[in-house]
Amino acid sequence: MKQPRGRAVLALSLALLLSLLLVFALGCLAPTPITNPTTSPAPTATAPPRNIILIGWDGAQRNHVKESLSRGELPNLKKLSSEGALVAIDIYRVTDTKAGWTQILTGYEPEVTGVFSNGRYQPIPRGYTVFERLEEFFGARDFVTAAVIGKKANLGADPGEPYYNTKNGMDVFINGLNDDEKVGSKALELLEQYKDKPFFFFIHFAEVDARGHAFGENSKEYDDTLISADGWTGNIVQKLKELNLYDKTLIYITADHGFDEGLQSHTDAPYVFLATNDPMVVRRGQRADITPTILDRFGLDLSKIEPPLDGHPLTRPYEAPRW
Ligand SMILES: [Zn+2]
Repeated sequence: MKQPRGRAVLALSLALLLSLLLVFALGCLAPTPITNPTTSPAPTATAPPRNIILIGWDGAQRNHVKESLSRGELPNLKKLSSEGALVAIDIYRVTDTKAGWTQILTGYEPEVTGVFSNGRYQPIPRGYTVFERLEEFFGARDFVTAAVIGKKANLGADPGEPYYNTKNGMDVFINGLNDDEKVGSKALELLEQYKDKPFFFFIHFAEVDARGHAFGENSKEYDDTLISADGWTGNIVQKLKELNLYDKTLIYITADHGFDEGLQSHTDAPYVFLATNDPMVVRRGQRADITPTILDRFGLDLSKIEPPLDGHPLTRPYEAPRW
């Protein structure tokens, strides 16, 4: 009669073991208690950055960038977005350079800036760009704003041109460098020069757009120039690492417009992207969302900005655009 009794004990022990395991498993599945953000140290990723760099790949079409990425041709864009995000930017207004960078660098619709397209424009009103907002917020002495720009005509600062007012409200404004190599080298030089102060840099590579116009969106030249823009982006990241600034610097890469599929134009080219090492970017958006994202990450109170920004930070849930 020992046998059945032994079996009963065994069965009972197994049942007990299983229930213990179940309790343990349920404990593991239970949500982690939310820690109070004011008492626990914030991860560096969510803390305000010391510096931000906005890199422009003028005329980089979203689908083409996706294809280049899938071929492994843009390792720096890939690495950067693996640390943060790669999101779609859709354009609702004119898909050209004046309209594009003005919207990106101000957060406003053309009705506010007066810059509608390459053919219809005026100087952006004084104080409305991301550069001037940051100078005002941080104080001109304590903060560096710099723009290193490949193009001249559509990112101009001569009388009547979009950046005519802006140029005087920031530390460095250089345009018309044309070649990616000149833009990249100048940017590295300026990073070295201004490394001791917090900064916002806009670094604009023009060659993707130029090759697209000359050879078409599906050309080898367009491919190659995306690879070149990615290489220069990598050089900038490398420089920040050498200067011990990478951990304190957010980088955003975007384009002012895409390219008409297979063509040498961008008449109707509303599909671009934003790649970033910023893990706080949570959604897709539009060009006017980029300045609010930068200002928000630097700690500005967007509700105090006049006139109210048309875009909304990509670090926060979607809000319908004001009309
Ligand atoms: Zn163009």
